[in-house]
Amino acid sequence: MADTEAGEADSAALTSPMATTASGPAWEYAPAPESREIVSIAPEYGLFVNGEFAAAKKGRTFATVNPATEEQLAQVALAGTSDVRRAVAAARAAYERVWEPMPGTERAKYLYRIARILQERSREFAVLESLDNGKPIKETRDVDVPLAAAHFFYYAGWADKLDYAGFGPRPQPLGVAGQVIPWNFPLLMAAWKLAPALATGNTCVLKPAETTPLTALLLAEVCQQAELPPGVVNVLTGAGRTGAALVAHSGVDKVAFTGSTEVGIAIGQAIAGKGKRLTLELGGKAANVVFDDAPVDQAIEGIVNGIFFNQGHVCCAGSRLLVQESVAEHVLDRLRQRLTALRLGDPLDKNTDIGAINSRRQLEKITELSAAGEAEGAHRWSPPCELPSRGFWFAPTVFTGVSQSHRIAREEIFGPVLSVLTFRTPEEAVAKANNTPYGLSAGVWTEKGSRILWLAQRMRAGVVWANTYNKFDPASPFGGYRESGYGREGGRPGLAAYLDV
Ligand code: NDP
Repeated sequence: MADTEAGEADSAALTSPMATTASGPAWEYAPAPESREIVSIAPEYGLFVNGEFAAAKKGRTFATVNPATEEQLAQVALAGTSDVRRAVAAARAAYERVWEPMPGTERAKYLYRIARILQERSREFAVLESLDNGKPIKETRDVDVPLAAAHFFYYAGWADKLDYAGFGPRPQPLGVAGQVIPWNFPLLMAAWKLAPALATGNTCVLKPAETTPLTALLLAEVCQQAELPPGVVNVLTGAGRTGAALVAHSGVDKVAFTGSTEVGIAIGQAIAGKGKRLTLELGGKAANVVFDDAPVDQAIEGIVNGIFFNQGHVCCAGSRLLVQESVAEHVLDRLRQRLTALRLGDPLDKNTDIGAINSRRQLEKITELSAAGEAEGAHRWSPPCELPSRGFWFAPTVFTGVSQSHRIAREEIFGPVLSVLTFRTPEEAVAKANNTPYGLSAGVWTEKGSRILWLAQRMRAGVVWANTYNKFDPASPFGGYRESGYGREGGRPGLAAYLDV
């Protein structure tokens, strides 16, 4: 394990009661840290190409750090264009010689094997994800890793049933998929991309985000362990330029991207007219709508889960709370009370609710947008909260008095920042909810089923959650429209993204 003395000291500081409380409860929690011992982090990682780890052709590397402490975790190979060529060639050879001709029943066995190994090594994945990403262990342990395994199980089940999936007899795979993923759910996004692509007979070159490469590399190890044929999955670590070279490569038949709208547009432009298939899962600015008849206790939990889960680094986060004016004060009082009980600090502590911001750059973006909220006249509130002295941290923040023209009501902050607006009538709620260039998700809280259906029909969002929020299931399609992208991941529609249909 590449643990330094400084790293140990940092994590001790993080688990001290001083550093872990957001104040509030009348008692102090004792630290409950998950051990790092289960994870063995190498000082240096190579690229995973054709079933083997090897240094980048030019020998370049970059550091990945623990955002909670700024401790360097490892040096990781930086893939250049010649590495992209090598990986795409390996994927092409594996596609033609092994993976596409293989019967679905056989492909399924590999996917089941990967799913089971993910479950067997789930603690290792959970700890590594928390270290590299900064998210709390209770989320990596209970959400990221189990859902990643569930995606492999789910798509393994489809691999031998594609003839009956509703796309006609013998639907054909596309070929080599170039897949670029972000840093907010590194393992889970890898699973969302790889599982349907592999089940349908495609081979993959995956580019994880620069700040969170380690679980994708551990997943590559799992592919070796599962004896997946060499070249079927390749992992190229690097920065945006590596991603750009991958999607532009002429040997890539299908591009799948999750990330910012800005980069999604750039990718769309770069590959326009090249005959590649493209799916984009981009940003969001979701409305979470609370009516006066909503079950308030549940709604408060849904609001908290909607925006403070994963430090708000969630494309479908409920970042705009629309609350009916008649209950607004009551809901906000209860929300403030609830937020004072959230615990911010060491991501490896099992009691932690809010972990570290993923990078200095993201922290600067959240800080800048929050300052703009104040400057534009919104009222800013955070619970009393002591932030650790090292690492990247941002206190949970609520803005009231927000108007629709404010930047914090329009731009994706991608952090633990909630903008609160009010409405009087259902029609006004719909108008305000849809007043965004995005269209990824929405939430509605009311006891009336008829109102849920009325609202869901009018919300311009790919997913509408009713009396819940941020619920995911591999069988349920996910995706947006307008500036949130196009194409669906998950469920049967997720197969179509990787088939020539
Ligand atoms: P990006 O969209 O830049 O990154 C997503 C992935 O794309 C990363 O792997 C990145 O590489 C890669 N990439 C960057 N540029 C290119 C390119 N030209 N061609 C191909 N791939 C590329 O997101 P950021 O990390 O920069 O975050 C910026 C903002 O985007 C956030 O503040 C947030 O608002 C939003 N975002 C939205 C996400 C979502 O799921 N909707 C996810 C992440 C961010 P690398 O990171 O290594 O440079």
